Amino acid sequence: MRILIVDDSPRHLTMMVYELTRLGYATSVVETGAAAIEAVANERFDVVMADIRLADMTGIELCWHLRTAQGLRHLYLILMIPGSMTDQFHELVEAGADEFLRKPLDWKWTAARLLAASRVVAMQRDLERLATTDALTGALNRRRFLERGAEEVVRSRRYERPLSVMMLDIDHFKRVNDTYGHATGDEAIRSTVRACKETLRTSDLIGRLGGEEFAVVMPETPPVNAYAVAQRLRQAIAAMPVRLETGGEMSVTVSLGLSWLNATDTGIEPLLARADAALYRAKNAGRNRVEVEPQIALPKSMMG
Ligand code: GH3
Ligand code: MG
Ligand code: MG
Repeated sequence: MRILIVDDSPRHLTMMVYELTRLGYATSVVETGAAAIEAVANERFDVVMADIRLADMTGIELCWHLRTAQGLRHLYLILMIPGSMTDQFHELVEAGADEFLRKPLDWKWTAARLLAASRVVAMQRDLERLATTDALTGALNRRRFLERGAEEVVRSRRYERPLSVMMLDIDHFKRVNDTYGHATGDEAIRSTVRACKETLRTSDLIGRLGGEEFAVVMPETPPVNAYAVAQRLRQAIAAMPVRLETGGEMSVTVSLGLSWLNATDTGIEPLLARADAALYRAKNAGRNRVEVEPQIALPKSMMG
């Protein structure tokens, strides 16, 4: 659990870092409300512990701004209040506060309240995972993949960076289900995603778009490199053993369609449409192959 501490007293910050580190939490510190808002917008924090008396804003303003800066992920917001404070609790919770701790902090009390916070943070993470990933494979679900893919397209356009997109679909998957059963079909789907994760970069996005159909967004990857990756992935999947319930193993192949960002693409959809058209051609041309859209000649050494 990562905690951002917001306090303008260096002495207090030092003591908090010491105590929170002793409790096993990772901490970062900032001294102003503005710096806290920037930190929350740019980095992932689970908990913010903020002194209500800051030089640049009131506690209510800080709560409100942090709630806006957090994005979709809920931050657990703990306010450190003066020992003498008796009012305004309701307004502060309305503005976004989850918890209050009186200063000077009682460390046994603080440790217990942070334990309670960590339970909420864990629940929040579980919910986020359930809402954004596919239960069978752990790949991004369709909705999350399209959201993240759109963000990557915006980023690539802004910085004029290359980006490639790939769609893949398991060949004759109905036969796999019919011949070996649905459980083996599921295992083939899981193995395919595992092969993707092993072959691709961690910065690539892998989404399960439908039953046995997947898409990949590869930031910072120009067409020729993406083509080489697609061929490598195709070979890796064809070579990968899929365990049968009965103890033996079988294998599957995939067809892949590849596209890349061009100057007129404003979202992820046109790239996926081109990758899908290429995938369709790969199926028609005999499966277990890679096709590209638009149809350009890539260096011969890369054709597999
Ligand atoms: P093609 O080579 O043209 O892709 O042929 P195909 O048989 O793979 O055709 P298609 O892609 O249309 O078939 C998808 C099949 O995948 C249909 C459905 O029965 C099966 N399927 C979809 N989702 C799942 C799943 O979660 N688990 C399993 N075991 N099968 C699934
Ligand atoms: Mg298929
Ligand atoms: Mg399909």
